[in-house]
Amino acid sequence: MNVYDSEQMCARLKPLGYQPVTSAEKADLIIVNTCAIREKPVQKVFSFLGRLPHLKRKNPDLIIGVGGCVAQQEGSAILKRMPHVDLVFGTQTIGRLADNIRRIALKKHRIIDIEMSPDIDSTDSATPENYNRDVSRFVTIMRGCDNYCTYCVVPYVRGREISRPPHQIVDEIRYLVNTGVREVILLGQNVNSYGKKKGIITFAQLLPQISAIEGLYRIRFTTSHPADLGDDLIASFQTDAKLCHHIHLPVQSGSDKILKRMNRKYMRSAYLKKIDELRAVCPDIAITSDIIVGFPGETEHDFKETCNLIERVEYDGLFVFKYSDRPNAPAARFSDKVAEDEKQERLSAILTLQERYTIKKNRALAGSEQIVLTEGFSKQHHGDDDDATTQYSGRLSSNKIVNFVMCSDKRTSITNDKRPGLKGELIRVKIEKALAHSLKGVAMGFLPEK
Ligand code: SAH
Ligand code: SF4
Repeated sequence: MNVYDSEQMCARLKPLGYQPVTSAEKADLIIVNTCAIREKPVQKVFSFLGRLPHLKRKNPDLIIGVGGCVAQQEGSAILKRMPHVDLVFGTQTIGRLADNIRRIALKKHRIIDIEMSPDIDSTDSATPENYNRDVSRFVTIMRGCDNYCTYCVVPYVRGREISRPPHQIVDEIRYLVNTGVREVILLGQNVNSYGKKKGIITFAQLLPQISAIEGLYRIRFTTSHPADLGDDLIASFQTDAKLCHHIHLPVQSGSDKILKRMNRKYMRSAYLKKIDELRAVCPDIAITSDIIVGFPGETEHDFKETCNLIERVEYDGLFVFKYSDRPNAPAARFSDKVAEDEKQERLSAILTLQERYTIKKNRALAGSEQIVLTEGFSKQHHGDDDDATTQYSGRLSSNKIVNFVMCSDKRTSITNDKRPGLKGELIRVKIEKALAHSLKGVAMGFLPEK
């Protein structure tokens, strides 16, 4: 979401003449877009800001702004602690960013703009740029969250849930497709509740409108809340040819006691039932999840239940986090806190457990032919030329990363391609090797055949 918001900030600053640069040293304006989901990213913000004063000494006209969730949460404390910061703006005032920067540049005074109010139209969006010729882009379809999970800061720093109008989303994606984008990742804290409050169309009804956009190859979304994952969305995996066979369905814990304390509004059994339903309609669906270890009151027994759920589901991948107290969230005041070293042990144990399934899932693909959406040269590649040994990178519908080389007889089609680095093409790839976190393969041909 911060990636999308940063792009929005860029789009709003363009009319003032600002263009992205490659390093802070070259910038006339530095905006730090921040995340408050756990304590660690908050600490990172302050250490990053602490490294900026020398740039301001070198260039007294440099403007430094802090936006996002930490700005929303800390407000004027940032201005007090960081005298070189000129602007602190919140998650709902990105629409006023250009005005604020203009005022600072003219009058040289500091501004704080962290208002959260129903009068601000936070669905308002600027036309995004595609500076990096991205193949895949995030598109926010809703903002905020009404779920109030007891550990989570989001409802407090991003405000109440609000959905963007469907036509605005469709127009934005159509525009992005014209810039070369082939895949969109639709974003919301709980996409299942898209449109419900406003009484507009549902998320499952929005999907076909996006799917109808010519030139768009793939659709992904995140996050789907297990309590609200309905039959209509599950059915979309069967009916919508552009919807990728991947769902990120954060479970957080495998213990009913902990799920209740987290206010997740589902039980372990209901979650497992949804997994079975998803696999029934889409047998090759990849499933990933988020886990929090060491939530207050999590005993060894609760933790074992989480491990046992992971063994039962066999996820394709997991994001595991140590529980972190958030000042606004109720769980910060819960008793029975778990010791830091215990959290670390549980985190490591889950990562080791999950490794088994990640590798198992990758190995199952070895020898098969898969369809890859190419994103360009792989990370190992330097320069911008294509030759027979050049490694390209892309993703499967399941979101797994594939690095591949071209068969020599397909060389002509690449050199004739106007876009170097093979971006945004659907290619049939034979998977030759499964590594721990990626796959290796050889291209077999374009789709459709060229
Ligand atoms: N809306 C999504 C999650 C958004 S936050 C959902 O409901 O699933 C992304 C992830 O950060 C969460 O899934 C959770 O695993 C983790 N997280 C959120 N708050 C946290 C906290 N206080 N401590 C540790 N992890 C946290
Ligand atoms: Fe946070 Fe829960 Fe909302 Fe996700 S659903 S953003 S975890 S409050």
